[in-house]
Amino acid sequence: MILENLNIVKAHVRESCEVSRRDPESVRIISVTKTQPAETIREVYSCGMRDVGENKAQELRDKSTELQLPGINWHFIGHLQSNKVKYVVPVAEFIHSVDSLKIATDIDSFANKIGKIQNILLEVNLADEASKFGLRDFDSVQKLAESVNLLPNIKLCGLMTMAPYTMDEYILRKCFADLRHFSDSLNNSGFGLKELSMGMTNDYRIAIEEGATMIRIGTAIFGERNYNY
Ligand SMILES: *Cc1c(COP(=O)(O)O)cnc(C)c1O
Repeated sequence: MILENLNIVKAHVRESCEVSRRDPESVRIISVTKTQPAETIREVYSCGMRDVGENKAQELRDKSTELQLPGINWHFIGHLQSNKVKYVVPVAEFIHSVDSLKIATDIDSFANKIGKIQNILLEVNLADEASKFGLRDFDSVQKLAESVNLLPNIKLCGLMTMAPYTMDEYILRKCFADLRHFSDSLNNSGFGLKELSMGMTNDYRIAIEEGATMIRIGTAIFGERNYNY
């Protein structure tokens, strides 16, 4: 089941890359395993997947401790609170969801303590009025990017967003294009951002056409989530 689903996702990734004349190797597929048991991560790993995303700090710590799979890259994609930085920084290759100087500073000081340079992305929220998380406009992104760049144990690698849940292709495309424009503008003023983390089950094909370098896929690989797990 997982292998078949993965093959479908990979085929769509190749198609979207062809449409937009991109190298399929330039798109990392992150398997989003939140709510899934450790066994399921073992299975997707045995299918060759090496990038795994979790959105809860303790879940990330527990699963990464239990599994210890060589070459696996853990991504933290959920909202991070200061008191949980200690669970995430030791294991996460990327933290996708930095949206305040406070959390960036806490990540920086924990990274310093364990002798690590932590890769991060800034989370931008152009879509969801109801959500408290994510930066709302370019000025806030630029300001935080500039401050974060001064933190010695953090490497700012790019931007992340979640599009609204809609089938309206125009809205989705605009959201992803806006994120890319933010990134281009920052790069024009001297940043070296390489990563655009955008695209989920509902919209990853459009995200790839608009430049995604990381797509975060749960449902299309594992089926509907069971939150009672
Ligand atoms: C759950 C989640 C995903 C995956 O969503 P699907 O629609 O199941 O692919 C991606 N990104 C974030 C931040 C998530 O929380």
